[in-house]
Amino acid sequence: MGVYHADAIVIRSRKFGESDNILTLFSREVGKINAVAKGVRKPKSRQRGGAQLFTYGQYLIHKGRNLHTINQASPKESFSHLWTDLDKTMAATASAELLDLATIPGQPHPELFTLTFSAFFLLAEEEPALVQCAYALKLMTYLGYRPLFKECTECGAKVQGERLLFSPELGGVVCGQCQLQRKSPIQGQRISGGSLGLMNQLLQGDLKKLGRIRWNQWMKNEILDTIQKYCEITLDKRLKSWRMGSRLVNVGQNPGGKDEQDNEPREVDGT
Ligand SMILES: [Zn+2]
Repeated sequence: MGVYHADAIVIRSRKFGESDNILTLFSREVGKINAVAKGVRKPKSRQRGGAQLFTYGQYLIHKGRNLHTINQASPKESFSHLWTDLDKTMAATASAELLDLATIPGQPHPELFTLTFSAFFLLAEEEPALVQCAYALKLMTYLGYRPLFKECTECGAKVQGERLLFSPELGGVVCGQCQLQRKSPIQGQRISGGSLGLMNQLLQGDLKKLGRIRWNQWMKNEILDTIQKYCEITLDKRLKSWRMGSRLVNVGQNPGGKDEQDNEPREVDGT
């Protein structure tokens, strides 16, 4: 016991004390791990490379009573392309945040490790928002929350048309018949048939074939918004970086708009 190795990606890093950071690692073996990287903000720290956000490496971790500690970090891939442009950084941040919020420490999800690893590589070449959306839909599906884009969540009938009702609470589209039969109105939003079809493609398709998918700015905004709401309502969590991304998109459209500050601290789970 005591000490173990983990093949992991750094999905979150926050300052802790004078020179330490608490890292959230997502490992192939044991899923999410929160651990202290001691002295990592000192200029001469040997662990600096392995503690960088989005780095993949091998970590030697000491199990503590309250917090685990990283004894050794051997970085293998820094995914440096994720820092070369803002869209890539935002997509990686949004993906990492979703992974963090959707999982709890100590539960292995090797398929989510592989998905994250592949998505980070794909961000070198593919359109960042497409990777982010496909990642989120596949992650939710792996966790048992597959949204329905083609069949009514209530009766299972095939749904077709232009402005269809998508209900994050019910987990997908709802047909006209089922909407009429409901006593209370269904919470949701109208989505274009094209966006629903594209989300279905992102959910089912091979990540490596994302380059074949085409969308326009309008569909992109609609899809990002739909997936964000679906994940937030399903997980009952706020996705801060997803909201920040949509604020960046809206800056040009609303130059006089008040920029909402969001400094709400996130809790550190001590395991
Ligand atoms: Zn129905």
